[in-house]
Amino acid sequence: MQNDLAAALKLPSLEKGWVWLVGAGPGDPGLITALGLQALAQADVILYDALVDEALLTLSKAEKIYAGKRAGVRSCKQDEISDLLVKLAKEGRRVLRLKGGDPFVFGRGGEEAQALARAGVPFRIVPGVTAGIGGLAYAGIPVTHRDTNHAVTFITGHGIDGKLTKMDWAAVSRGAPTLVLYMARKFAGEISEKLLAAGRGKDDAAAIVANAARADQQVIVTTLGELGAAAENAPSLAIMVIGENVRLAEELSWLAKTAP
Ligand code: SAH
Repeated sequence: MQNDLAAALKLPSLEKGWVWLVGAGPGDPGLITALGLQALAQADVILYDALVDEALLTLSKAEKIYAGKRAGVRSCKQDEISDLLVKLAKEGRRVLRLKGGDPFVFGRGGEEAQALARAGVPFRIVPGVTAGIGGLAYAGIPVTHRDTNHAVTFITGHGIDGKLTKMDWAAVSRGAPTLVLYMARKFAGEISEKLLAAGRGKDDAAAIVANAARADQQVIVTTLGELGAAAENAPSLAIMVIGENVRLAEELSWLAKTAP
């Protein structure tokens, strides 16, 4: 099927000495793109993250190198990953860097691409379905909806220091009706306090979508006032969304109703 697909879609080939930075999507392996499949079929070596579904890796005969963190295990340093990408490419290998979601959304793909650009290594970016859009879709929450929000803000809950991201939360609160938060579960209580102080209501709709687009997906619909408490009991891999669009989940949640 890959050859037919590649010909029909005129997909480029992953050439020797190249790196493709590919988004694997948030969970469901079916969410990988055709370009992502092409890279899996053609790569000599894959550097993959913890968030990548095993099923995708088993599709490929390439050497597989784990480059991410898993519970308790310290993450590989970003510089080491970038150096390894450069080294493998310079050896003339066809390199696939496979990351969860979209590589350019809170995924440090930009840093890896910078390292490649600076080392003169040719690369292609293959976008993926990001958790803050596709993960919400798996919970029946449209990221935008005509009746609820014309804008959305994507936020990371913590910075490189592991602390709550420093920003003007009052401005964030006013900026767009819907806020989508990555890497923020630990700070849910603090974030909710800041948004309440900025004038949002404690009964405003909020949801936690944990393990989105995976077999163990959990959707917790709550309120801004209760978000901190709800997050404490939620699984650790979670996207949070605050805004009226959350209420659509009641009507639009589809996953449980879908035949396997
Ligand atoms: N590049 C990724 C994001 C990486 S940051 C993307 O575009 O989706 C990691 C954060 O993404 C996690 O802390 C969590 O907030 C979110 N995330 C990624 N996959 C997820 C999933 N399947 N379910 C819920 N949240 C997810």
